[in-house]
Amino acid sequence: MSEEKFQNLVKKIRNIFIAAHIDHGKTTISERILYYTKKIRNIGEVHEGEATMDYLDEEKKRGITIGAAATTVTWKDHKINLIDTPGHIDFTAEVERTLRVSDGGIIVVDGKSGAQAQTETVWNQASKYQNPRLIFINKMDSVDEVSKKFAETCQSIQKKLNASSLICQLPIGKYQGIEGIIDLVEKKAYYFTPGDKEENPEVKEIPSSYEKQVQEFRQKLIEKVIEHDEGIANKYLSGQELSVSEIKSLIRVATLTGKHFPVFCGSAYKHVGVKLLLDGVADYLPSPLDRHEINALVDGQEKKISILDNPSETLALAFKTIRDYFVGKLTFLRIYRGKINANSYIHNLTNGTVERVSRLLRIHANEREIVSEALAGDIIAAVGFKNTSTGDTLSNEKGNVLLETINFAEPVISLAIEPKTKKDQDELSKGLKILSEEDPTFLFNYNSETGQMIISGMGELHLEVLINRLLNEFKIQVNSGKPEVAYRETIKNSVFIEHIHKKQTGGAGEYAVVQLQFEPNPGQGFTFVDALKGEDIPRSFVKPIEQGVIRSLSVGPLLGYPLVDVKAILLGGKHHPVDSSSHAFERAGHDAFKENTDKFELTLLEPIMEIEIGNISHDHYGAVLASISSKRGKIVIDENEGEYENPSEGDSKSIKAKVPLAEIFGYSTTLREITGGRGVHSLQFSHYQEVPLSVREKLIDKKK
Ligand code: GDP
Repeated sequence: MSEEKFQNLVKKIRNIFIAAHIDHGKTTISERILYYTKKIRNIGEVHEGEATMDYLDEEKKRGITIGAAATTVTWKDHKINLIDTPGHIDFTAEVERTLRVSDGGIIVVDGKSGAQAQTETVWNQASKYQNPRLIFINKMDSVDEVSKKFAETCQSIQKKLNASSLICQLPIGKYQGIEGIIDLVEKKAYYFTPGDKEENPEVKEIPSSYEKQVQEFRQKLIEKVIEHDEGIANKYLSGQELSVSEIKSLIRVATLTGKHFPVFCGSAYKHVGVKLLLDGVADYLPSPLDRHEINALVDGQEKKISILDNPSETLALAFKTIRDYFVGKLTFLRIYRGKINANSYIHNLTNGTVERVSRLLRIHANEREIVSEALAGDIIAAVGFKNTSTGDTLSNEKGNVLLETINFAEPVISLAIEPKTKKDQDELSKGLKILSEEDPTFLFNYNSETGQMIISGMGELHLEVLINRLLNEFKIQVNSGKPEVAYRETIKNSVFIEHIHKKQTGGAGEYAVVQLQFEPNPGQGFTFVDALKGEDIPRSFVKPIEQGVIRSLSVGPLLGYPLVDVKAILLGGKHHPVDSSSHAFERAGHDAFKENTDKFELTLLEPIMEIEIGNISHDHYGAVLASISSKRGKIVIDENEGEYENPSEGDSKSIKAKVPLAEIFGYSTTLREITGGRGVHSLQFSHYQEVPLSVREKLIDKKK
């Protein structure tokens, strides 16, 4: 295929996510999109439990869930890959990976309640990945004062998300919800017929009562984006009328900078505005070519590379694996460069294995299409991979480029589980292995001291869902203990250690000497530095030493929690030509720390969560603040909001705070009690922090 033809194809691809605060309408919009793009026959209403994005019929019957990681739809000659995001914040892994492989997205905001806690969270995450976004103000059918509510929601977007919005549409309607939409760019009015599932509006002139407003908003829109094209700016300033395509091109460029966000409105439920939103996706959201620069490691160095360079080299990122009833393991890939063929072999550059691509599948809402090849820019599912996990780089060559991997948060909460019947023990291990392969924020390990299986994840709900999956998908019933905080241990001082590992037991001896400097490495995880000079230790023994150190840090001396934030610098050592081996050096690396723990000042770290409590009324405000401070919590002052004050009577307010996870188990019950059931809250991991001495002593006493 010629370069030009290839680029023309990629220009028409949109890899996008849809995200929203829970209940704002994400699923309903996704459903409508699948329907209008003619990939499903009957529109599934969420409340009837028919949502196609959520599962496929056959799989539901067999009790196997498949979160279609990506679904492909076609809209006006554009190929849109909708990448799934979960509804709940506990599933941060899903959100992170989706944002990482998306080029842009749609943020849905409920027109009745405006931007909410979770809107803000996903918004900030998307900003981290510099994803251009459209905003869809949904549920405009159920607001009573249409224009007022629209303006208020736009304000909440401005204030909460700190976003420069480009208002591209105005809703028509007075007191009984939205009746139509004015397109400010095209200067047209769309009137929707109630009950028209096909969403085919009548196009009319702008009603005279809206003319002044349209004039004003259109001018504002143009002036916000005009700086992005000098030629068009000159034309505008000289008083000439801009064409529709000129304005669209300005909005597109402004959107692609990631600093301006087109705002659309409508009602997914009443079939108003979703097709216009799809036009917006095609018009304004980036194609993979617009986001052609990506982060990578080239020969171990962080670099920006372009997906357009060296097209003969395939580069793809595995971003999700799921187990599928029909074909086994499905690995979803975002292809950044080159192409992938079905029935071929591909290198996993992350772990050095070779994978067979036995088949390539494109997932549509209700069918799978078998394809023979997939090109750069696209998203595709591969069948046949055995050793590939999320975040791995795949390539046709044994090249030197690794794509930036996907970073997942560390699990903060853990739980002991055991199978209800002993015979399920093996099945349980198998099930847990599969679940943790699919979800990198879910870990499990067997504690041989207590004989317990410990599972860890991002929150109580996260673990609850996984335990349910064990039951539904693997038919394993488990008893579970109380959720516990996943503490970490770390060191506070630097220590130099020379450790001699020597063994002479008749046969071949073991000899290894290592000199290691251990240092605190706050917030950086584990780092191993090879600072060897000369040939005291052959290079081939460096990796085993590192592995030994890592093993020694997996169970901490204080309470048995893993040690984090440690830097180990290998300064020197000795070897013996006959008695030294990888094994001996691994032992030396391990024992260097393990046998000298008394030289270290150790401490415990605990996860701190960011909590947002909403809907707090005047009467309950004091009680909520008191509950936070009684839990070692600290209120976070929002720059936009200023100091917190008690809301006036009849009003409500939300506050943010940072609270140790250990203190807020079961907080929903407390909150319900002190706010008469009105308060709502959302929780998100913030960071690890040293545990105060008094709490640490209590924990150590408890363990004794
Ligand atoms: P999600 O949690 O963001 O995926 O939200 P859903 O799509 O599940 O919608 C939550 C609820 O709001 C469901 O009962 C929907 O039927 C309803 N809903 C979604 N869109 C609209 C809308 O445009 N208008 C109204 N009135 N209800 C809506």
